Amino acid sequence: MPTRYIFITGGVVSSLGKGLSAASLASLLQGRGFSVRLRKLDPYLNVDPGTMNPNQHGEVFVTEDGAETDLDLGHYERFTNVNAKKSDNITAGRIYSTLLANERKGSYLGGTVQVIPHVTNLIKEFVTGDNNKEDFVLCEIGGTVGDIEGLPFFEAIRQVGYELGRDRVLYCHVTLVPYIAAAKELKTKPTQHSVKELRSIGIQPDMILLRADREIPANEKKKVALFCNVPEANVISALDASSIYKVPKNLHLEGFDERVLAHFKLKSKKELELKEWERIVTRFERPNGEVNVALVGKYMSVGDTYKSLTEALDHAGIENNVRVNVHWIDARVFESDDAEKKLAHVDAILVPGGFGEAGVRGKIAAVTYARENKIPYFGICYGMQVAVIEMVRNLLKVKDATSSEFGTPHTKDPRGQVVGLMTEWEKDGVKQKRTKDTDMGGTMRLGSFPCTIKSGSLAHKVYGETHITERHRHRYEINFAYEADLAKHGVVFSGRSPDGTLPEIVEIKGHPFFIAVQFHPEFKSRPFAAHPIFAGFVKAAKERAKAQDKEAGVA
Ligand code: GLN
Repeated sequence: MPTRYIFITGGVVSSLGKGLSAASLASLLQGRGFSVRLRKLDPYLNVDPGTMNPNQHGEVFVTEDGAETDLDLGHYERFTNVNAKKSDNITAGRIYSTLLANERKGSYLGGTVQVIPHVTNLIKEFVTGDNNKEDFVLCEIGGTVGDIEGLPFFEAIRQVGYELGRDRVLYCHVTLVPYIAAAKELKTKPTQHSVKELRSIGIQPDMILLRADREIPANEKKKVALFCNVPEANVISALDASSIYKVPKNLHLEGFDERVLAHFKLKSKKELELKEWERIVTRFERPNGEVNVALVGKYMSVGDTYKSLTEALDHAGIENNVRVNVHWIDARVFESDDAEKKLAHVDAILVPGGFGEAGVRGKIAAVTYARENKIPYFGICYGMQVAVIEMVRNLLKVKDATSSEFGTPHTKDPRGQVVGLMTEWEKDGVKQKRTKDTDMGGTMRLGSFPCTIKSGSLAHKVYGETHITERHRHRYEINFAYEADLAKHGVVFSGRSPDGTLPEIVEIKGHPFFIAVQFHPEFKSRPFAAHPIFAGFVKAAKERAKAQDKEAGVA
């Protein structure tokens, strides 16, 4: 069947959960036997989110093929289990940089280069290109209708509808219906204005998803249908849910997927089964016990900064049938406080990825605490680098051990820096070279790389195999020169690149669960299949919590 395109736009405010709605719809369509692909079109001018501060923009999600993308691609992957690709996230910045490079090459043959048609054509090529003949391509447009930078994107998707015909394209507009406490009423006026804005640029939505914090009365939905020129059955309530895993079923019960198929005059290829989602919701909402995990990080301003990570912890909780309470600890507090007070009541400690020197002392203190008190520890990327620095400082007594990321002073030990700037590695058979002056954007060791695991190690136990691939995003790498001396203290480099040159996993023998990895396993965790290290980590936390309870005499 020819590919159908579903465009998801937003109105009134941002942060409406368009990404989750798109991911949920894709998962429902999959459940009905269709193949899907999800894409995100971001109108901002950064070439990609790789150089953006996660405090401002949320996590940077890394794909298998090494793209640094918007965090919504994480939702897409987790809900559909379809791995996203570089070509699934485009920004205005990338469009313009391609356009300007073409212009310099003379590709426009002397023509005047304009937003319409040149920018819009590139956007259309992106939307319809690099497809695998999926039944549905769902494209979410970032931001809200009316944003200046969004205009070329809306114009491009309008043209796609015109060119492919309305039976192959569906426009779904997601808006907010706010509750006005003083009037005790939900208000649909902002939705009406937002649809008016959309129609003024030539897009008549086929469906409207109303986000609200409470039940929307039927007469309000009727009003939206009438004023926005949309069939009543296509006005769908999308109410706040207590967990994201409820969203697919909730939207299904509202008739979302059914109405989408009706629009395309398609019949479901198979009966939709929601049992797996239901099982996850039950496990998530009614677990048998809880564990407390300290997340010692630096980017603390919004919950989205470590989105995949907190989701992976939830997946591991679902698998272990416990609630995972995350205690966000800003690593910088240890600079004035000691680790003990902050960490005394947690069952496990996780140091996630990060950049720059700020907070490093606190993260090192957290490693010392976990190592010495035998508390389960999981270090990710930066969390592995600080773990090795900590062990070289405290076990090998190289007090100035550090990373070249933190500038001077450098480790004076003849073995050199503990963590050094990586200048060469191989990706898909091609040698990659970097220097310290290389551009910051898109130049890290990015995407999926293989790793060989030592037999009999903790890593082997959790993965159940010795050959894995994981996604990377870092510029620095640990120096093997300290390996032999660390080994005397039970520290094992249990995972390395297949050619043996890059250390990927480190662990401590005799510690109940101490594992640190150079890659980002959180990107591959799924609600239906928790990542093995996360699952093992939460299991270890659970065992510790149980042991502590026993000690305290709690039945
Ligand atoms: N800043 C470190 C590096 O670039 C770690 C990066 C990360 O944690 N993702 O190597």
